[in-house]
Amino acid sequence: AAQTMEQLVSLCKRRGFIFPGSAIYGGLQGTYDYGPLGVELKNNLKLAWWRANVWEREDMEGIDAAILMNKLTWRYSGHEETFVDPMVDCKSCKMRWRADQIAGKCPNCASTELTEPRPFNLMFKTQVGPVPDPESFSYLRPETAQGIFVNFKHVLDSTSRKLPFGVAQIGKAFRNEITPRNFIFRVREFEQMEVEFFVKPGEDEAWHQKWVEDRINWWISVGLSRENLVPYHQKPDELAHYAKATVDLLYRFPHGLEELEGIANRTDYDLGSHSKDQGSLGLKARVSPNGHSTEKLTYFDPETKQHVVPFVIEPSAGVDRGVLAVLSEAYAEEQVKPAPAERLKPVEEALGAFLKSVGRNEKLPVEAKNALLAEGERIAGALGERLASMTGLLSMPGAESIEVAKKLRGQVDPVVDEFYRTVLHFKPRLAPIKVAVLPLKKNHPGIVGVAKGIRRQLQSSGSMRVVYDDTGAIGKLYRRQDEIGTPFCVTVDFDTLGDGESASSKDTVTVRHRDSMTQERVAISELEAYLREKMA
Ligand code: ATP
Repeated sequence: AAQTMEQLVSLCKRRGFIFPGSAIYGGLQGTYDYGPLGVELKNNLKLAWWRANVWEREDMEGIDAAILMNKLTWRYSGHEETFVDPMVDCKSCKMRWRADQIAGKCPNCASTELTEPRPFNLMFKTQVGPVPDPESFSYLRPETAQGIFVNFKHVLDSTSRKLPFGVAQIGKAFRNEITPRNFIFRVREFEQMEVEFFVKPGEDEAWHQKWVEDRINWWISVGLSRENLVPYHQKPDELAHYAKATVDLLYRFPHGLEELEGIANRTDYDLGSHSKDQGSLGLKARVSPNGHSTEKLTYFDPETKQHVVPFVIEPSAGVDRGVLAVLSEAYAEEQVKPAPAERLKPVEEALGAFLKSVGRNEKLPVEAKNALLAEGERIAGALGERLASMTGLLSMPGAESIEVAKKLRGQVDPVVDEFYRTVLHFKPRLAPIKVAVLPLKKNHPGIVGVAKGIRRQLQSSGSMRVVYDDTGAIGKLYRRQDEIGTPFCVTVDFDTLGDGESASSKDTVTVRHRDSMTQERVAISELEAYLREKMA
């Protein structure tokens, strides 16, 4: 797994997983853009969630609701009043912070002179329609859940579902976080994967427990290890106003043990809050009187012949935090073979020179300087094992401005390429690219023709993303595919054409496995079935 966030940030930028948002204009804090590989990874994660939570269950429907909703939604959901974080200002450097995240001390200048915390509402307000009338506004949704609650009757009436059943949704949510940080962990625009699972009152606690187990198992199925997942039962004073019980699934991210998903028992609060004639519903939750809703969000129980307001169990996961967790868990820097001391020595010396020049560089911002020095020292401390991170070190902000970095790079890269690799051990299902087809010689018409044909044939199966790559020598190509987590490389060589030493290898290719780095010879005619089976 990744040891530091910098390793991931650097790999993500270098290989096109995730970029800082609007970078050419100096960026926009709390926003990130998913690049060519990031979008594949994120889509694969969302698809895995949708499969497990919608297709493979018999008690679930999906929806995709609008991001903009009537602003009354946010009044009755309680967000206008209570969706706030406590904000403080540092009296000394004027930075703003979330009071509950900084333990009484300004993280920027270490001053303890802070203002009293005051509530800050996290919803983004936006004008709706062309007339700037003070009433024509709404909010960008801060959670996807409300889109499900307001559609409860529509889904029920159009599907004739019986309790218990759930509604699933994946979509964007927006929060004007006071201090976005830790890469894509806390951002202002993100995606959620949420289920609202409706159950009979009284059955809620058992279902809550079951969902916690289901969700842990799902995260394991996409590659997270059980040891890095910690269920945390919120204490009564930590619970949101609507919740009877909440279990946070914490994950050991590179920056610490933090929430990946929340699984809440929201009682009958939500459906009750959004209903008319609340007095007639026998609600358990305390809700504000609703003078606007036109519906009673109830379920007619055919057995008892009574209308009930279902309780809601809500597993709510962040897609971006999921992507971060999966990346972090999959990341590894591995030694491929031992590097002899005489090859390491020049690198060690060059690293020393690099660190000295960073220390002397006046133009480098203090933050970048400290990060570079810390990372450099970490590598220097254990050069043998940690050499692979040097590639990351050299692409850290500020590093490229230094002449010495370029020289260092020239010395590091060949050693890293030969003795180390960075690899993403994704589950094949999540890998952005499933198969890379590589020609042993990029100018050989026979080899190229067969390789391109294999790419087309595999791609047309429709079940996997397949690329053709001829941008380097074969060893280099394997490393590049390892680094982006491609589980299989298919190499076409002279044996494939029947021109090699062994005539029996005609019409076969080499399949090279990412994790074990072992290779097998497989007949082209059996390739698709072979890969499909390994991918399942
Ligand atoms: P936190 O305490 O970390 O602010 P939360 O408890 O407010 O999170 P929920 O309201 O429970 O979060 O939202 C459900 C999920 O949505 C979270 O578990 C997380 O994965 C994701 N999420 C919430 N806020 C953000 C954010 N600012 N950036 C990225 N993901 C987020």
